[in-house]
Amino acid sequence: MTIIRNAEIYKPEYLGIKDVLLIGKKIAAINDNISFDISSVEITEIDARGKKLVPGFIDSHVHITGGGGEGGFSSRTPEINLTDLTTAGVTTVVGCLGTDGVSRDVASLLSKARGLDEEGITAYIYTGSYRLPLKTITGEIMKDIMIVDKIIGIGEVAISDHRSSQPTFEEFIRAVADARVAGMLSGKAGIINVHLGDGKRKIDMLKRAVNETEIPITQFLPTHINRNPQLFEECVDYARNGGFIDFTGSEDPDFWEETEGEVSFSKGLKRLIEEGVDENNYTLSSDGQGSMPIFNEKKEFIGIGIGKSSCLIKAMKDCVNKENIPLEKALRAITCNPAKILKLKNKGRIEVEMDADLCLLDKELNIDTVIANGRLMVQDKKPLVHGMFEKI
Ligand code: ZN
Repeated sequence: MTIIRNAEIYKPEYLGIKDVLLIGKKIAAINDNISFDISSVEITEIDARGKKLVPGFIDSHVHITGGGGEGGFSSRTPEINLTDLTTAGVTTVVGCLGTDGVSRDVASLLSKARGLDEEGITAYIYTGSYRLPLKTITGEIMKDIMIVDKIIGIGEVAISDHRSSQPTFEEFIRAVADARVAGMLSGKAGIINVHLGDGKRKIDMLKRAVNETEIPITQFLPTHINRNPQLFEECVDYARNGGFIDFTGSEDPDFWEETEGEVSFSKGLKRLIEEGVDENNYTLSSDGQGSMPIFNEKKEFIGIGIGKSSCLIKAMKDCVNKENIPLEKALRAITCNPAKILKLKNKGRIEVEMDADLCLLDKELNIDTVIANGRLMVQDKKPLVHGMFEKI
C-alpha cells in the first residue's frame, strides 16, 4: 500500500488537494484525508505537498526496438531502456516499427514490449511497419489483432512520403477494414496509425477513405501532423470534422520551427482550442528512439541523435509557460485522450479502480516521482528501478 499525501491533483481535470491511496496495482481511494489504524500492514507514505499529481504519461508512438537506419546500417538506433521512459514520466508506451520492417520485425517488437512489461511499465504495439502489404506475426492483420494481446492496431503505415511503399487506395483501405473489424471482434481499438510525410498529397488518402467508404473517421490516428504549417492546417480541418490527430513532440521546438517550419505542440494546441476542436481529439507522442539529425549552433549538421520521450513534459511546460494553456488541457494529449482513442483500459486517469500509474511534478513542472502499476520507479528525479542491462 502507498499513500500519497496532500497532492494537487490533475486527473487530468483539476481536482484540488487530496490524498491518494494505492493498493497493489490500483488506485483504491482519493479523499481529503485518508487515515488508517492497521499497524500490521506496511504503508509507504509519499509527501506530495507543493507538488502536482498527474496521470502517468502515455507515449503512443515509440520505436522501442530502435528505428532509423536510413543512413545505412550504422545509423540504426538502439533499443530503448526502461529509464528512458520512466524518467520522462512515461508509464504506458505503444511501440511501432518504422521505415525498416526487414532487419526488425513485429515478433521482436512484441518481445521488447513484453520485456518492458516485465520491467514494470505497460507496453502495447502496432503490427506492421511503413509498408503495405503489412508484414504481421500470424500472417494476417485480423489474426494479429484478435489473437495477440498486445497488438492494438496497425502502423505506422506511411503515406505522402518518399519512404512510403506508395500503397494504392484499395490496398490501404483493405488493411484499414481488416484492422477495424478485428478491433471490433476483440474489443480493441483496431486503430490505423498513419505516418504522414512531407509530400504534397498530405492527408488525401484519409479524406478519400472517409468520403468514399463506410469506415468512420475515428478509425485513423494520423501522426507527425505538425511537421509543416500546410499539413497542420489540413489536419486542423480534419480534427474539426471529428478526426483524431497526433502531434510529434520535439526537444527543441523553437529550433525546429525556425529551420523546418514545424508547428510546436504548444502553438498547435492553442490553435486547436481557438478553432473549437473537440478536446478529446488530440494526442502527443514522442516518436522516441527514432533517429534525429543534430545541428550545431550554426545550424550545421553534426550527426544523428535519438528522439526522446522527455519532449512530452517539455511540451507541457511550453503550453503553460509560453501559451497560457491550462495544464489540464495540455495533459489530455498524453493521458486520457490516447487512453480513450486506443482503448487502453484503466489508463490515463486518476480515478478509483484505474491503474496506479502516476507522476508527481515539482513547481517548475519537472518530473519528480513516477509510479507505474503501483510501484515506485522514479523518486526525487532519480530512477529506482533499472532495466536488465542498464548501468546502475
Ligand atoms: Zn513516422
